[in-house]
Amino acid sequence: MVEFTVEQTTRPTSAEQRAALMADPKFGRVFTDHMAVIRYKDGQGWYDAKIIPRQPLQIDPASTVLHYGQEIFEGLKAYRGKDGAVSLFRPEANAARFVASARRLSMAELPEELFLGAIKALLKVDRDWVPAEAEKSLYLRPFMISNEVFLGVKRANEYLFIVLASPVGGYFSGNGSIPVWVSEHYTRAAIGGTGEAKCGGNYASSLLPQQEASDNGCSQVLFLDAKERRFIDEMGGMNVMFVRKDGSVVTPPLGGTILRGITRDSILKLGRHMGLTMVEEPLAIEDVFKAAATGDITEAFACGTAAVISPIGEFRRKAGSVAFGDGKTAGPVTMKLRNALCGLQRGEEADPFGWVHPVAL
Ligand SMILES: *Cc1c(COP(=O)(O)O)cnc(C)c1O
Repeated sequence: MVEFTVEQTTRPTSAEQRAALMADPKFGRVFTDHMAVIRYKDGQGWYDAKIIPRQPLQIDPASTVLHYGQEIFEGLKAYRGKDGAVSLFRPEANAARFVASARRLSMAELPEELFLGAIKALLKVDRDWVPAEAEKSLYLRPFMISNEVFLGVKRANEYLFIVLASPVGGYFSGNGSIPVWVSEHYTRAAIGGTGEAKCGGNYASSLLPQQEASDNGCSQVLFLDAKERRFIDEMGGMNVMFVRKDGSVVTPPLGGTILRGITRDSILKLGRHMGLTMVEEPLAIEDVFKAAATGDITEAFACGTAAVISPIGEFRRKAGSVAFGDGKTAGPVTMKLRNALCGLQRGEEADPFGWVHPVAL
């Protein structure tokens, strides 16, 4: 077990200030007092593991990440149960995905025990920042950048791994169903590309279609496959699922372009455990528009760590739109899955899967 040295901030946020910041934190704007840092160099390996006061980075302007974008990240949450205990949800899955992302971006692969160790060491120091209210949690953002000072294009020989922590409320303001824009021109990922890796570059290329969505009154984008623009892939930050009128739940299969969402995987397993029929099969966008119009598909939702499960009210595209259910309220299967998953994550439901990972503080 690697020991993290701890340097406490000399200017801690007071309990009063913290309570004010955490009253309505929204998403990703409020940060805790500290951060975890680990460095890597070829030949030396991982070194200098520490918890330090959260502060700006000093990196050389020729640092490779600023030019060629070797950057990967993760997102997971720490929850506080009714008994005050803090737990993580499937953090080993995030650690494993971080390694897979690093491999695809040709970056150093952080061992799982360092990934988990950094998160736990940070939680220990910033434990008072884990909110107690049911809808809130402490969002953890592990990420890694290449920081060799060199303008040549090659795999960098130095990396910086950091974990930030940010108390969050719900990801979307309001609880209603979101309208989703179907991107018919821009795509997110092609076979053989980086779609399966959680890298910043995938998000950079999604911002223009996101703007197109916004110009059309939608808060999220749905991406289609890059080859035929025919099959549904995912939403660029969340996976997508549909409920058929027979109550079965269907989602596109992982095929190399869709990010392997841990929420997606958890819903598939949890749904089966609850007795629902959970199906992974390709979904043509034309068929989904038709099925929503005829009532053969009754519900749609997006899923991911930040928003958990968010109902989709309608799909919109240039040729028109289609609503799921009444287009406004979350459907019964969506709510059932959402309540079951949230209950499990917060330790309020039995955990037959061993997914809840208690953290000793
Ligand atoms: C992170 C992410 C998801 C959701 O993954 P979770 O593990 O469920 O949070 C889905 N799609 C993309 C592109 C992502 O980056």
